[in-house]
Order: sequence, then structure tokens, then C-alpha cells
Amino acid sequence: MDVRNCKRCGKIFNYVAGQMICPVCKEEIEKKFEVVRDYIRDNKKAGFAEICEACDVTENMLKQWIREERLFFGDESPVGIDCEGCGTMIKSGKYCDKCKNELARGLMAATRKPLEENEPATTRKGHDNKMRFLG
Ligand SMILES: [Zn+2]
Ligand SMILES: [Zn+2]
Repeated sequence: MDVRNCKRCGKIFNYVAGQMICPVCKEEIEKKFEVVRDYIRDNKKAGFAEICEACDVTENMLKQWIREERLFFGDESPVGIDCEGCGTMIKSGKYCDKCKNELARGLMAATRKPLEENEPATTRKGHDNKMRFLG
């Protein structure tokens, strides 16, 4: 058993995996997420400060959801985060399209050979690994 202090409320809880946050706080954060998601659907031009104030969340929470690709902002929104590769403003995920392409090229070059050798056509699973779960 792994007992830790919750990063958010400080209470002790049984840590399993993922973020250092207790189940109670996790649930509260999920509820906040839904509030934010509804808010930005109705207020497409709201910026970070406005969303934080209206929904009682922090900018860091918003950025985390954006990086996890759970929150999406349209082109008319001023909200964005920095690409971890080059610092360009992006709307979701971790990297801009340019850096994503470069990463994909690098990954393909590195994994090409083992993939071809270890993948019998009959047991192929298709694109399961690429599935995303969107809130
Ligand atoms: Zn907590
Ligand atoms: Zn980039």
C-alpha cells in the first residue's frame, strides 16, 4: 500500500497511479472540467482569465486539459498553449503540426525495422493504440 498526501487538499489517501490527487479531489476536478467544457461551448471567445473567473478553475488546470486534448478551442478563441517543441501557440496537445510531423518521421525511422519483423499479418490489431478517449 502506498499512502500519500493529496497535492490538492493535503489529505492522506491510498495512491494507485497517475496524479498525486485523492479520489475526492479527482471527482471535483472532473465536475469542474464539465463546467469549463460547457462554458467554452457558450463563450467561444473567452480567454484564460475569463474562464478561470467564471468557472473557478486555475490556468494550470485549463492548460493541463488542453495538453491532454480534452478541451478544444476554436480559431476564434484567444486561448492557446505553447508547443513543447518550438513554442508556437497551439490549440491542443503538446506539439504544433510541424513538430508533430518531425517527431513522427523520427519515430518511424527508429521503429520501422522491428515493426516489420514482429508483426504477423494475421494478428494485426489495427489502430487500437491510437484510440483517444475524449470527455
Ligand atoms: Zn484531495
Ligand atoms: Zn512546434
